[in-house]
Amino acid sequence: MPPWPRRSPRSCGLTRMEKNTQKKEEEEEEEEEEERKRRERESREKVEREREREREREKDVFETHFFFFRVDQDLSSGQLEPPVVTYEPNVGMVLTINNDRKIIPNVKQLRLNCRCARCIEEFTGRVMVSGKDIPDTITPLKIAPRGNYAVEITWSDRHGSIFSYSSLLEQAK
Ligand SMILES: [Zn+2]
Repeated sequence: MPPWPRRSPRSCGLTRMEKNTQKKEEEEEEEEEEERKRRERESREKVEREREREREREKDVFETHFFFFRVDQDLSSGQLEPPVVTYEPNVGMVLTINNDRKIIPNVKQLRLNCRCARCIEEFTGRVMVSGKDIPDTITPLKIAPRGNYAVEITWSDRHGSIFSYSSLLEQAK
């Protein structure tokens, strides 16, 4: 038996230092709680923004597909002649339809708009090619029709792109 009874700090009240420590701990807990709520709010907002972007993207894809569908319909039903696609230095890609000329002046941009599996990541749609990957002097070396809906362009960087006539028409002025 000790000479005096053991007293637990709880039963005899807290010393001033212990009280201060406890107060500080409570404050810290409150701060942590605040921080947790803030993080939750931020992640909810992030999810909401992603959803919004996804909706925008779906709308975009739908409208683009609709446009292609319409032009492809016209092409396959014979209402629209497939354009003849040529390259003219200092002019750009020239699409000739019934003596009407439409031009894509920026061939480098056309190369950057390639939608092949090496240029666009399949599931995310992320563009994997940027302006600095492509020389400013890029030109098409070969332009070959693919069926009655598209052309295949072999570029001077040895890359091959297939563009539907409708996508070329969309990019042309
Ligand atoms: Zn490509």
